[in-house]
Amino acid sequence: MKNISLIFATVCLLLISGCKKNSMHDNPFFGDYKTPFGVPPFDLIDSTDYMPAFIEGMKQHKGEIDKLVNNQETPTFENTILAFDRSGMLLTRVSKVFYSLNEANTNDQMQAIARQINPLMSKHYDDIYLNAGLFERIKTVYDKSLELKLDSQQIRATKKYFRDFERMGANLSQEKQDELRKLNSELSLLSLTFGENLLAETNKNFKLIITDTADLAGLPQGVIDGAHETAQADSIKGWVFTLSKPSMIPFLQFAENRALREKLYSGYFMRGNNGNQNDNNEVVSKIVSCRVKKAHLLGYKNYAAYVIDDNMARTPEKVDEFLMKLWTPSLKMAGKEVVEMQKIIDREGGKFKLQPWDWWYYADKVRKEKYNLDDSQLRPYFSLSNVRDGMFMVANKLYGITFTQRTDLPVYQKDVETFEVKEANGQPVGILYMDYYPRGGKGAGAWCGDFRSSVIEDGKRIDPVMTIVCNFTKPAAGVPALLNWDEVTTLFHEFGHGLHGLLTQGKYYRTAGMVPQDYVELPSQIMENWAGEPEVLRVYAKHYETGEVMPEELIEKIQKSGLFNQGFETVEYLAAAILDMNYHELSDSAKLNVGEFETQAMNRIGLIKEIYPRYRSTYFAHIYDGGYAAGYYVYIWAAVLDADAFSAFRESGDIYNPELAAKFRKYCLAESGNDEAMIQYKKFRGKEPSEEPLLIRRGLK
Ligand SMILES: [Zn+2]
Repeated sequence: MKNISLIFATVCLLLISGCKKNSMHDNPFFGDYKTPFGVPPFDLIDSTDYMPAFIEGMKQHKGEIDKLVNNQETPTFENTILAFDRSGMLLTRVSKVFYSLNEANTNDQMQAIARQINPLMSKHYDDIYLNAGLFERIKTVYDKSLELKLDSQQIRATKKYFRDFERMGANLSQEKQDELRKLNSELSLLSLTFGENLLAETNKNFKLIITDTADLAGLPQGVIDGAHETAQADSIKGWVFTLSKPSMIPFLQFAENRALREKLYSGYFMRGNNGNQNDNNEVVSKIVSCRVKKAHLLGYKNYAAYVIDDNMARTPEKVDEFLMKLWTPSLKMAGKEVVEMQKIIDREGGKFKLQPWDWWYYADKVRKEKYNLDDSQLRPYFSLSNVRDGMFMVANKLYGITFTQRTDLPVYQKDVETFEVKEANGQPVGILYMDYYPRGGKGAGAWCGDFRSSVIEDGKRIDPVMTIVCNFTKPAAGVPALLNWDEVTTLFHEFGHGLHGLLTQGKYYRTAGMVPQDYVELPSQIMENWAGEPEVLRVYAKHYETGEVMPEELIEKIQKSGLFNQGFETVEYLAAAILDMNYHELSDSAKLNVGEFETQAMNRIGLIKEIYPRYRSTYFAHIYDGGYAAGYYVYIWAAVLDADAFSAFRESGDIYNPELAAKFRKYCLAESGNDEAMIQYKKFRGKEPSEEPLLIRRGLK
């Protein structure tokens, strides 16, 4: 769900507390980490270390900025842009660890720190981006970039910072800046509340407890065992199903008890909308309203216009048009899928119309009938370690890089794996952390971030430390984790983000690997293409017990089933993307009735009642707690790019085509931030992307 740029973008600042427990001497954030490869010393970090490091980090950062602003020398690239680019290192160090772990491994203490820190971080960054003296110096370098004979990368970094200041309100009057500060601080707390409510609604407030074995009918033994373990962990008798996807989806897919499917799915789609202490309706209304006000202050007609101005798409109208172009054929296809499923219901004598909680159950029957393929046939070939090694193999074939597991690096959770990544010639590339399974303190979904990003400092590259976090099916006793197809592609996806970070080459933090949001999903989504190629499956899809390679017949079935359920997948996604645009194209900040707004938005586009948007308003974390506001569209925007990019490999007749791989690595990964995204893409592809390959891939054409 989240990605590299998001983690960069949400680096906000920190807070004040009276905690003096740790002296600067033993706080691991003060000074470089004394660990192999300089990875964070997770074994030495205590929750009490964060606050002092944040406070000192802000103090140091402020001192550096003051020094920069008060410099009597004429502004130059070095004394202004470069100095700014390299400022705040302590703050960055603690932020990267804290915000990563607050998503992947949080607890009450960390949540309390986040509550304290977020408004302080928001104020700290406002103080910087609204600092008139600093803006003046940056503007001077920007205006004189020709005269100063800056090179192309210096010009790009300067321009990026200048734009950041403009977009953060540096050009506004004092009075408007004060208003903006208030809105930013309010927004940071509202997002936090949204996320906390959602976490409680997902992990705490709902459980489906089953005590009668008859209610387990249809479920595979592995699923039943998992539910039993979940129950035991909570000292509950029987079986427990939760709203985390690895628990919920198999139940929706296989459980014959229709009433219980409805109960579980209702638990899911009502999250944040239960009128309890974790209700998100009012939070959503307030966030939307603050964003309208913020956009107006900054001179934009709405929040979407503000966000998209910086993206490849440029305007909300372009995005709306793009989404609607895909909407009509997708809806038609989903309608056909409903008819197919209803036929099965009627044939089986079920006297009811298909409902949203029936979709997975009957879709699975369609899959078995039409494609003769079910999950349980595939899982034995997708043990986690085989899939992981398969994607390492793909990266090796494309880019020559190697992955060596390390068992001596500190981790924040015992089942987290670490890998050393090297070039073909043995030169270091970076470190990769992988954290696979659900936990109470881990947010839903999968994402990639970093504990340290890459930059070239005095000609020497600082190697990145990337982290991939997932929520995969846990291994049952005595059996390795066996993934379903969705999880396989998710791992390849997040790994693609990881590769983007690992292979980045750039001189400035502001530009190295920094791409617009509607480009971010290109490096990740393109990797999903390799996951399903027969040539690749033959290498990694091996039976976990016998080592037997997946039979050709099964590989063929995977290929054919590529169009399975694509109407549903595309419609539930597009519905959410359109809902996001609707909220952020509002130009009125009046209080909203969120439920009504959502219903009207979905009625306008004719969403069928058998499908809910992938995220409904009160649990749409991407847009209310994740930096994807007016940006949920980016996945399908980037899908146009990835389908087009992968078609280049296909057309060449070699999915590992070395020449194309080298170009993709150089222009689209390593130097992705060097120029406008479309320009970089064209350097790889030789032309602008076409929508055709995507439409064909999804069966929409
Ligand atoms: Zn992604």
